[in-house]
Amino acid sequence: MVKFQKYEEKLSKYFQRFSEIKFKEKLKKLVFRIGIYHQEEFALITEKPKQLILPGQIGVLFCGDFEDTLFDTIKMNLNAIFDSFFYEFRNLGDYTFSKKLFEKGIKNEYKIPDERISLHPTNKFYQILIKKRKEENIDMILVITNIPLYSSSEENIIFLFGETHLRHQCSIVSTLTLKEKFYNREDNQDLFNERVIKETVHEIGHLILGPKHCENNLCVMHFSNDVEEIDNKSIYLCEKWV
Ligand SMILES: [Zn+2]
Ligand SMILES: [Zn+2]
Repeated sequence: MVKFQKYEEKLSKYFQRFSEIKFKEKLKKLVFRIGIYHQEEFALITEKPKQLILPGQIGVLFCGDFEDTLFDTIKMNLNAIFDSFFYEFRNLGDYTFSKKLFEKGIKNEYKIPDERISLHPTNKFYQILIKKRKEENIDMILVITNIPLYSSSEENIIFLFGETHLRHQCSIVSTLTLKEKFYNREDNQDLFNERVIKETVHEIGHLILGPKHCENNLCVMHFSNDVEEIDNKSIYLCEKWV
């Protein structure tokens, strides 16, 4: 009984704190940041995909406005790096969101105090990719999108360059933050393409080689915290992998 009373006292203290406006505001912010309302919306299927047998096929899907030549450039580079892992690279063309799906799961973040950017959860893309991979009957799939993302598994990771879902054999590369324009610098198409290739090679590297990163900062499997680190690394795997 005494124990129970103590518990009640503690609880009432919490409730008092709850009623303080400041605390309420804090809580609201926290809920907003976690994006708690959207967690269930993009629950991925639990079914296990068929076992990955290499060499296999990989499909590349585009979501956003990209140069027509981008697929060929990527294919050429992937061929040079992963030639023994794939027998085909397929261009799966463009993906366009329906308005309804596009608006789901968005989280707003401030880039600079008065400019808000809508971020989309990675699970939203995985849902699309899992479906598409099955439809196209391919082994792995990657989407390149100009839509900014936050990670569904780790909500603090925002504006990510890329992410891979090993279990479902799909990868995402997000290009908005690979653009010089994002940092208020003059656009540079060659530099942008190079970054897209590096991040694409990196995510496909995860699909084939697993979740580990490389300590060698010149290796394409090195984790990049910012674009400077991407620019510093090469498009190649270091000797550890080959
Ligand atoms: Zn990585
Ligand atoms: Zn390495």
